[in-house]
Amino acid sequence: MTMFGTNNLTRNIVVAMILGAIIGLLLAESSAGWVNSFLIEGILTTGGDIFIRSLKMLVVPLVFLSLIEGVTSLSDLSQLGRVGGKTFGLYLCTTAIAISLALLCASLIQPGMGIELTSDANFQAKEAPSLASVITNIVPSNPIKAMVEGNMLQVIMFAILLGLGINLAGPKAAQVQSFVNQANVVIMNVLTMLMLLAPFGVFCLVTKIFATLGFSAILPLLKYFLVVVAALLLHMLGSYGILLKVLTRLPLRVFYKKVREIWLFAFSTASSNATIPVTMNIVENRLGVHNKVASFTVPLGATINMDGTAIMQGVATVFIAQAYNIPMTITDFLTVIATATLASIGTAGVPGVGLITLAMVLNQVGLPVEGIGLIIGIDRLLDMMRTAVNVTGDALVSCVVGKSEGAFSESIFRDESTPKTEINI
Ligand code: ASP
Repeated sequence: MTMFGTNNLTRNIVVAMILGAIIGLLLAESSAGWVNSFLIEGILTTGGDIFIRSLKMLVVPLVFLSLIEGVTSLSDLSQLGRVGGKTFGLYLCTTAIAISLALLCASLIQPGMGIELTSDANFQAKEAPSLASVITNIVPSNPIKAMVEGNMLQVIMFAILLGLGINLAGPKAAQVQSFVNQANVVIMNVLTMLMLLAPFGVFCLVTKIFATLGFSAILPLLKYFLVVVAALLLHMLGSYGILLKVLTRLPLRVFYKKVREIWLFAFSTASSNATIPVTMNIVENRLGVHNKVASFTVPLGATINMDGTAIMQGVATVFIAQAYNIPMTITDFLTVIATATLASIGTAGVPGVGLITLAMVLNQVGLPVEGIGLIIGIDRLLDMMRTAVNVTGDALVSCVVGKSEGAFSESIFRDESTPKTEINI
């Protein structure tokens, strides 16, 4: 029988990440065939895929069960409306702030000036969903299919309705309610077990990425890269810091210390969706947001709130306009803010999705979509960083909404001792 605490786990993941980066960079220098076929495409790809699949495995059951439990513990129906309204409004606001900040940074620093356009700048844009189809698609025609496909908005919708149904049934559905609550405990234990895999999984993912990244691609785009990173940092530390202070008066240091654990997973998986189980765990058990708020804000945020992605899109739009020497008007800037904010609603938090919505933004302001080909080579590294910002936004809004609804434990938030989430195996 062994016991493990999550603090050691966090330290092990950090060590795995650093080791992965170093070994990955060393492997990138090797030209031996077996390094690519056996190590990178073989062991590392398999290890990384198993890790991501094991996280994804829990997303639908966790969101489904946890949200039903959350809805059944709401005090009344109007609370659901309030939580929904505040969450949606805050997600839209933070994204609009993020992209405005990005447009400002890019306009001041001008990362695209003097770029030599290369002929390999090509990118085939996928069809972006229309707003009408996004709204229609929130309602599942077949909830089982929604779960099978991992369609998060549809799963959220169905879980809320079931939760309301259980509430209306009262004592007649007491057994269904306690089954859901117990199943939730079981799923959380499965998550804790799978976390044992995390250091190995993170090591495989990070090593593979650094071994295949091709840092030489960054040099010609260094200015673009740095502007995106600077805007991400400004938003993460500046905008979020101010919002948290003004709206909750909670200590920033504690918030950042605790969300660091989510960053590790967001960074290595580059997927807000795959990170949902970890985000939910930290937001509820370490930041102190009650399940009735977190079970709604976290999965919704992973799907519709992408501040980091919006930042990349803002900088990329200005970069591409400058590289093609196309001037942008104030109306173009406003169109970019509106389109990027709305575009993020219809796309799930998976790796690389930001480029698809970027195509939508570029189309809207008449900029060449093939310009995405200029930045695609270094997008994965930026994807990892912006996903960390995306999930931080979800955690922040969860705290703000939780606190404003009295669904927040300040003592859990302030408790910096070693987490007591231990499990016996
Ligand atoms: N990978 C990001 C996420 O999952 C989305 C993106 O920017 O491509 O949040």
